[in-house]
Order: sequence, then C-alpha cells, then structure tokens
Amino acid sequence: MIEANPAIFGAATRVLTRAEHGISRQSISSAALRVLYGLKESGYAAYLVGGGVRDLLLGQRPKDFDIATNATPDQINKVFRNCRLIGRRFVIAHVRFGGEIIEVTTFRGSDGGVAGSANGDRFVETDGRILRDNVFGNVEEDAERRDFTVNAMYYNIEDFSVTDYADGLADLSNKVIRLIGDPEKRYREDPVRMLRAARLAAKLGFSIDAASELKIAQLKELLHEIPPARLFDEVLKLFMGGHGEKSWHELARLDLLSVLFPDLKPANLRANKVFLEQALQSTDARIQAEKPVSAGFFFAVLGWPMLQARMPDKPTQDQRSDAIDSVLGQLSRIIALPRRYAMQVREIWEMLPRLFDASATRARRILPNPRFRAAYDFLHLLGSDNPTLKALADRWTKAQLPDANLDEVFGQSAAASQLQSDVPGLVLQPSEPAPSEAVPRKKRRRNRKPR
Ligand code: ATP
Ligand code: MG
Repeated sequence: MIEANPAIFGAATRVLTRAEHGISRQSISSAALRVLYGLKESGYAAYLVGGGVRDLLLGQRPKDFDIATNATPDQINKVFRNCRLIGRRFVIAHVRFGGEIIEVTTFRGSDGGVAGSANGDRFVETDGRILRDNVFGNVEEDAERRDFTVNAMYYNIEDFSVTDYADGLADLSNKVIRLIGDPEKRYREDPVRMLRAARLAAKLGFSIDAASELKIAQLKELLHEIPPARLFDEVLKLFMGGHGEKSWHELARLDLLSVLFPDLKPANLRANKVFLEQALQSTDARIQAEKPVSAGFFFAVLGWPMLQARMPDKPTQDQRSDAIDSVLGQLSRIIALPRRYAMQVREIWEMLPRLFDASATRARRILPNPRFRAAYDFLHLLGSDNPTLKALADRWTKAQLPDANLDEVFGQSAAASQLQSDVPGLVLQPSEPAPSEAVPRKKRRRNRKPR
C-alpha cells in the first residue's frame, strides 16, 4: 500500500482493490495489456493511467490507453521491438501492435526547475512555462505532474489495484475537472491545460472547478505563447474527437475561441450560429458512426465566419480571393494549418460561388468535378438557416440523382444576380471590365522572366 502524501496533494492517497474499482482486464485493449505485461516481465513497474483509467471508471470506452513506467525511454525501447521514441518536450515511447499505438511515458520528476534555467533535462522559461521536461521521478511525482485530478489514477498491473493520488475519485463522482495543485502555476507551466480543461469538460459532460475556471479568464492570453503546431494538434482533438459541438460551446463560454481566433467575435459567431452548430453536429455524428471525416472540410467551416469578417459587401472576384488568402494566412500563422488542408479549404470556398450561379450547362461541367461534393455539403450546411441557399442546395441534390434531367432542374433557376442572398461572399459582383484592372495584369505578364 502506498502511503498518503499530503505534502504533495493535501489529500489522502487511496488504493482501491480490484473488487472495489471493478475494472476488468477485458475492457483494456490487448495492445495495452501486452505493453503492461511486457514491462512487468522485464522487472519494471507499469501502470495504466490518465484517460484510460478515468474512462474505464466511468464505464466508457477509452479513446486511447496511456501507460506510465519507471523504465527510461531507452529501457522501454529495449523491451519492445516495435518501439519508437518521439518528442523533445517530453520524450515518449510509442509501442505499436497491429494498428494500435500505445503511448508509454517514464515517470516524471516533480522537482521544479529554476526559472530561465536548464535543470537536469527540464527547461523552465522565465514566465514559468515548462519547455522541456525529461527529469525522471517516481510514481507519486509523476501523479503530481499530471494535469487534472481525474487523470491521476493509476491502474497497477502488478496487483490490479487503482491508486487515486489526487482525490480524483471524488471529482469523478461529482463530475468536476480540477487542476492538481495551484491553478495559476499549472496554467503558467503549460497554458494548453486551459484547452484540455475545456475539451475534457465537454467530452465527459463535467464542469470545471471554480478556481480552475477563474484562472482561465485571467490567463487565457498565455495561449498565444504556444507553438502553432501544438495548437493545431489540440484543435484537432477538440473538434475531431466526436465532441466538437460541446467543445465549441465550452470554448465560447470560456471566451477561448476569440483568444485563439481573433476574428471569431461574439457577433460574428451569432450570425453563423445555426450553420456552425449544424456543421459540428454532423461531424460529431459521423465520428460516432465511425464514418470518415475530413479535417479540410472542418477548417472550411471554422474559417467561414472569419472569411465573412474580412469580406466586403458583394465583393468582386479579386476582393474575394484576397479575403480567402488573408484567412488562410491567418490560420497558418495561428495554428500552422498544414498546406494540404489549406488547399482543401480554398477549393471548397472557391467552388461555392460556382454552385450559386448554376445552369444546366454549368452543372454538367461541375458535377463530375471531384471537389464538387465537399462544396455541395458546405452549401447544404449554409442552407440550414437560409431558405434561398436551402432551395439552391436542394436543386443540387436533385441534380445528383441518377436520372436527373438537368435542364428541368436548373431550367427555372434564377441567375445569381437575381438571388438576393444575405450570405456575404457568395454573390460576386460581375468582374469589372475596368481598364484600370487590365493594366496591372499586363504589367505582371511583361515582368515575367523570359524562359
Ligand atoms: P483522452 O480521452 O483525450 O485520451 P487524456 O486525458 O487521456 O484524454 P491524453 O492527451 O491522452 O489525454 O493524455 C494522457 C494523460 O497525460 C492525461 O490523462 C494526463 O494525465 C497527461 N497529460 C496530457 N497532457 C498533459 C499536460 N499538458 N499537462 C499535464 N499532464 C498531461
Ligand atoms: Mg488518453
């Protein structure tokens, strides 16, 4: 039995026997069990920890199984052939069995680094942010370095007991997400914990403990210090994990959306409320049904209110292209949106006005386009609270039927200029034949290098 350590947590450590916690090995993935037993048979301590234990205690299927051990990354690497060491901020071992990757981490030490200095292999910024953390420790120290109390419960493969280090069981039954230790210090060490709090609260239907929530309001701007690539990973976890709609509301409630994306202002979000909710709901539903989802499509949804914020009324083609460039530039700066997703977003947004200005002849050209389907889905969502667009989307639905008569479907279709849509950026001004435009084009051509 592990001793209580009130100096660390101010709470008694509790050990639950197998009969008390009721977690069955059958609900642990075979890959995770092989890693746990592999480590144990090589003489190491091995625990299932984090979301794996938390979700099993809640009777839910964990998204992944995280394992903690006293074996160092190199030792883990020697136990498993199918192992890769990754990461710099934290070195993590990835052990692969079939299609499943199990994340194995070495217990982290609790001894804080000196601000602005390198201590062992932990590097702490002057602002308290931990940039590198590879100081190893024991299991109690490891528990203290976890983010939330409900994530600091350890299932021991040695005797199948669960040790609750930070009173996580109480928070689990009260449905509370609570940071371990002093909230301000923990957010300063790693501001991403604010996003994690929002995500877990949304996923589990928990509330965030008052002190942990209060500090988010005070410290949210610290998120600007997180490297964009890490924010990208978190954004994917927030919205592509099957609980996107709830995550969205939680982030909006905590005012974190506009911290991340300054163009997502409340007025702007209100104007797109139905569209955003429909889009998030349909992504969640697809994930629940284990159907594939497209991150590119999601970013087209996320960027849409931003595009509107940057679009003049009835823009010309050039103004629209500039606005698209500007939003994609912003997403690349803020969350390092990978190029392939940016391309998909651009394709959807550029195809939309073509759907608006439909005729049978155009439809014959557009329908076989491999990008048509995503733009059509997008139009459908825009139609959720706009009857004009709904009618247009329905027309395209009919056009896709195998026996569709396109002349009939689009015969009475009004020209784009006649459709008074209040969705900025869909109705384009006809390109002006202005001579002023012709000049820079010509000039550009002349400036081209001779081949
Ligand atoms: P999910 O259900 O999404 O897998 P999770 O809580 O398991 O949720 P992971 O990202 O898989 O989240 O992380 C595994 C564990 O690692 C967490 O439960 C937590 O204990 C720890 N952890 C992850 N990120 C942090 C962090 N930023 N600070 C402290 N501990 C963290
Ligand atoms: Mg996990």
